[in-house]
Amino acid sequence: MQSPPSTPTPLTILIVDDQNATRVALTAELDRSGHRVLEADSAEWALELFRRYRPDLVLLDVEMPGHDGYWTAREMRAAEPGGWTPIIFLSQFKQDEDVWKGIEAGGDDYLIKPVSAMILHAKLRAMQRLAQMRTRLVQMSEELRAANAQLEELSSVDALTGLMNRRALDARLQQELEQARRDGKPLTLMLCDVDHFKRYNDAAGHVAGDACLRRVGQLLKETCRRPSDCAGRYGGEEFALILPNTPRSGAMTYARALMRTMELAAIPHPDSPTDSMITLSGGITTCLPDESTSAEGLIIRADDALYNAKSTGRNRFFSYEMQMDTAEQRRRASAAPGAAPSEPGPGNA
Ligand code: GH3
Ligand code: MG
Ligand code: MG
Ligand code: MG
Repeated sequence: MQSPPSTPTPLTILIVDDQNATRVALTAELDRSGHRVLEADSAEWALELFRRYRPDLVLLDVEMPGHDGYWTAREMRAAEPGGWTPIIFLSQFKQDEDVWKGIEAGGDDYLIKPVSAMILHAKLRAMQRLAQMRTRLVQMSEELRAANAQLEELSSVDALTGLMNRRALDARLQQELEQARRDGKPLTLMLCDVDHFKRYNDAAGHVAGDACLRRVGQLLKETCRRPSDCAGRYGGEEFALILPNTPRSGAMTYARALMRTMELAAIPHPDSPTDSMITLSGGITTCLPDESTSAEGLIIRADDALYNAKSTGRNRFFSYEMQMDTAEQRRRASAAPGAAPSEPGPGNA
């Protein structure tokens, strides 16, 4: 071999060859230019070293007793799914078909034995450049993925339903709370949760589940008649409605109308133990905010009321302040015809 040109970065190189003489010559050459060399005289040992040390590059003999180089290359590729270690085949003679077989087996290049130092270093350099480009590419796609995730996080729109996302809802609630405090007006927050939605997914599949959530989101949006009302996806199969200037009684009326909308939409639920259609349970809280009222407090109360709606049978909305749900309200109304259920006026929201 001729004099070794210098190589920019030292590599860990696995040399696989059953012939001692070839390994010794290559090792000496690579050692001299500062690379770290691992040696294997069989396919099995090569795979063992490959898995254990993850070399930067493999020089792989084609003809070996037992498993040959093609087999070894395929095993190495299988051992690094998603990864890529450059593999250069070593062969005694150059035959077009051998080159083709080597590339097919997962190799990247071909060297003829005895290997000239100049050619060896040239190929190493080329492979190194490719490997660096690949690393950069992997790094860039990771950066891109992270940036997209951050962008989504920063965005205010829920990708599935097109409604406001949790982040936007939180900001809106805070904003409306401050406005209601300034104006001395009641503010209502409703949390709505799709009933038995896990069973829906299990029975109809996740794709149908997504479509169902989009439909529910659309219906909720349509119930927002006033420009200041807003619907959003709080997370999973939970939605939130922020209803400014809406007292307790108005909130109950709103909830009944929403339930009616769901009834009319009649989205079939393939496996609900409580209804043949998609239903919602909701928790309502209404406040006339003062200095002590917080958005977190509202969410806790709405959540508490939602829990009540769930535990008393689902398909109903429970008002935290009235400690009453829409089903109870309807029963009372029908028990005393003509008498509206006792609802405080807007003044004492
Ligand atoms: P409950 O009546 O008590 O609310 O029962 P549930 O099954 O609706 O409630 P649970 O919290 O047990 O399950 C919620 C399900 O919602 C499970 C989850 O897979 C599903 N889900 C959450 N987000 C999505 C989504 O974006 N798409 C789909 N298809 N399903 C979702
Ligand atoms: Mg051989
Ligand atoms: Mg839920
Ligand atoms: Mg649910």
